[in-house]
Amino acid sequence: MKALAKLTRDKGLTLTDVPMPEVGHNDLLIKITKTAICGTDMHIWNWDEWAQKTIPVPMHVGHEYIGVVADMGQEVTGFKIGDRVSGEGHITCGHCRNCRAGRRHLCRNTVGVGVNRAGAFAEYLVIPAFNAFPIPAEIPDDLAAIFDPFGNAVHTALSFNLIGEDVLITGAGPIGIMAVAIAKHVGARHVVITDVNEYRLDLARQMGATRAVNVMQQDLKSVMSELHMTEGFDVGLEMSGNPIAFRQMLEQMNHGGKVALLGIPPADTSIDWNQVIFKGLEIKGIYGREMFETWYKMVALIQSGLDISPLITHHFNVNDFEQGFAVMGSGQSGKVILDWR
Ligand code: NAD
Ligand code: ZN
Repeated sequence: MKALAKLTRDKGLTLTDVPMPEVGHNDLLIKITKTAICGTDMHIWNWDEWAQKTIPVPMHVGHEYIGVVADMGQEVTGFKIGDRVSGEGHITCGHCRNCRAGRRHLCRNTVGVGVNRAGAFAEYLVIPAFNAFPIPAEIPDDLAAIFDPFGNAVHTALSFNLIGEDVLITGAGPIGIMAVAIAKHVGARHVVITDVNEYRLDLARQMGATRAVNVMQQDLKSVMSELHMTEGFDVGLEMSGNPIAFRQMLEQMNHGGKVALLGIPPADTSIDWNQVIFKGLEIKGIYGREMFETWYKMVALIQSGLDISPLITHHFNVNDFEQGFAVMGSGQSGKVILDWR
């Protein structure tokens, strides 16, 4: 079958032929319809330090997808051939304390589809049926293909009660932009997002941000005073991984504020801990999506009128994957979809 693989320990990916994956007793074989390019795939494409120490070579990657069940192992129940599915990309062990307690997102033995094992940038993907999630008919393929990062945004944004709260989101990448739409949808008052990229700030405005602030050009404090926010933000969602943005967020939080960290900063990032201590901030780290609460919430949010479709800005056939990765790498895009049909 056709797959987009890392064949050499070097920049780029290659469209190549790989053997069909084997279907275990508890697995689903999924025929991939569409995939999306994640920031993680860009790290793999660019073959940065993280990718060099994480990605086995040769292997095909990718973890944002929608497909159709094509076959299944003999132990699988609850699915039938032809079901439209996406899937949770974190494969958990099932036997650690958190798994046994139903807190699968906290499994200490997580294996990542398209990161630690063969991924979805292929004609077919095999995952444990446990990880598959059926997609209701009214949710289009494009949206279902981005459920993985949408789930990151939902998991982070719904970590705290946002009703009537003033929310600061740092980083208008695809996940930050989706978090804007979610926060507005569930009833936040002001949702302010920061970035240094005008294209993405513009998308955030389209998705309902009260203000989308280019921190290179505008002072966040002046925006807050325009909005009559005298006391600071109630909730902070860090979605840039940039230490400067994180420090700025801590400074602008109100006392008793709540902060969720999704963005992955450099390991040696330092902050002013006095901001945390004397303000009594609550800080929560976020990894992946809650299994499977986040997935049910994603479906329900869309069914209740949340529209994240403006975030999908580009479509390519998989044969033109190089163009897709170039657009994604340029920063002048929202989500980029590759069509495998
Ligand atoms: P992205 O890299 O597309 O977006 C990050 C954005 O931050 C970019 O638009 C960038 O311009 C912006 N930025 C840079 N400097 C900034 C500054 N000083 N102030 C404000 N914004 C600034 O990433 P994404 O795909 O949207 O993901 C968001 C973050 O979440 C990334 O750090 C990613 O690695 C991380 N992530 C974490 C998990 C998890 O499970 N914890 C899962 C997915 C992604
Ligand atoms: Zn586990």
